[in-house]
Amino acid sequence: MSEKQFRMILAIEAFDRLKWFARLRWLAVAGLAIASVIGPRFGFEPVWPSLFVVAGCVAAYNVVFVILFRSIQRTGLSLVNLRAYAILQMMLDLAALLVSVHFTGGIQSPFLFFFTFHMAIGTIMIATRVMFVLAGVTCLGVFGMSVLEGRGIIPFHPFTQGAVLSGEMQLLIFIVFAVSVFGIVYLTHSVASRVKERNIELHGTTQELSERTAELQRLLDEKDELERRKSHYMRISAHQLRSPLGTIKTSLQVLLDGFLEPGSEGGLRMLEGAAERVDDLLAIVNDLLELAKMREGRARAPWVQHVYLNQVLADIFDALEPFASGHNVELVADIDGVAMLDWGVPPDLVYAFENLIHNAIKYSTSGGKVEVRLRVREGISLIEVTDNGIGIPEELQDEVFLEFVRAPNAKQHAREGTGLGLSIVREGVMMHGGTITLESREGEGTQFTVMVPLHYVPPEVEQIVGEHSDPALAET
Ligand code: ATP
Ligand code: MG
Repeated sequence: MSEKQFRMILAIEAFDRLKWFARLRWLAVAGLAIASVIGPRFGFEPVWPSLFVVAGCVAAYNVVFVILFRSIQRTGLSLVNLRAYAILQMMLDLAALLVSVHFTGGIQSPFLFFFTFHMAIGTIMIATRVMFVLAGVTCLGVFGMSVLEGRGIIPFHPFTQGAVLSGEMQLLIFIVFAVSVFGIVYLTHSVASRVKERNIELHGTTQELSERTAELQRLLDEKDELERRKSHYMRISAHQLRSPLGTIKTSLQVLLDGFLEPGSEGGLRMLEGAAERVDDLLAIVNDLLELAKMREGRARAPWVQHVYLNQVLADIFDALEPFASGHNVELVADIDGVAMLDWGVPPDLVYAFENLIHNAIKYSTSGGKVEVRLRVREGISLIEVTDNGIGIPEELQDEVFLEFVRAPNAKQHAREGTGLGLSIVREGVMMHGGTITLESREGEGTQFTVMVPLHYVPPEVEQIVGEHSDPALAET
């Protein structure tokens, strides 16, 4: 939950309390009005009409507040404004109570201890330090009123006839009153702050819980996605294996049923065809095994230090030169800089770049040109493999990295192919901390861009280095 949402909740809570306080005030108005009317019957003469007037005033400002609250509800809540209203209400209530106390016996008034009630409610709604100030002002008000009444500066209204307490007694009442007023603010504050702490703790726990739930949900979604991809992958793999198997089965059946003699010309051709399909199957199975190994995070060979990418590319060039000239494709190297990887698995790097360059030659037309460029900048080796061959249709450019995806123009151009090459290339690049992207236009050519960081430390090596804190060991 954000700070803004939390403040909004606080504002709503404060607003609810203010509304509740306004409702409670109607009870006070009714109480004052009833007391003023029936008081004289019980011998409390001064309550009429003074308390009735106070009740009218309280009712009047309560109406104003109720109207104000409605407009606040419509225009939006602000915590600062609500606090100001709470303080204003409290001050008006204390003033009304002081006037009621004055008309009902001053320091001897039975209404005097209603102040403590107000102090408790105020401490729940208003900052405690403000309430301590209001408690002080209240005590001063009550003290000042009784002094003025005692000196005859303002009239004294005894609650019952003839009942005037001695000065000491009045002082004692005042001291008890002051202690009660401050004490109630302190007590209410300590109880309310403990409740508030609990609320915050609870809020924190709830927030943590909801974060954990979200994390769990994310992991579950990830797991679902993995399951889905796994089953998709298995389905495609099975499908890819099924078609050559079907062809082999048909060929063998023809021979077994005696339609063709195995030694005859037709029989031999059929067996050759079946053997070719077996080669296809072997190629698929080998690639699948390769991919599975990389996916499991197992390199084909151990990680070695200081892998010289220039040498890797030079070896691939030597190996692929005959393949290129066989296709009448010019193979050009544009090497600038020295790309030395801190850590690498040479056979996997060879496999990755060999596949890329092999593809570029394979999907070039006779007379085409394949260019391999190497650049090194800011700790990154950049390898671009560019051809002016058949290109990749736009709608398949993201998908060619997935298993078994072959574009129709590629199938037409070269029948054989599993569609697993680029998946293995991508795994190989990624396990070296690199990235691979492509740009292509159908009929014009393709460019694959590989970026491999020079100082990548694979997790396997990191673990070993971590286990041996001796830097000399980490170097080996
Ligand atoms: P194999 O698994 O035997 O390599 P493949 O070459 O068809 O078969 P990938 O290497 O994975 O499989 O390539 C996937 C597809 O990407 C190809 O079938 C082709 O459609 C497209 N492709 C890859 N490289 C190129 C390229 N240089 N030019 C045009 N198309 C390409
Ligand atoms: Mg390929």
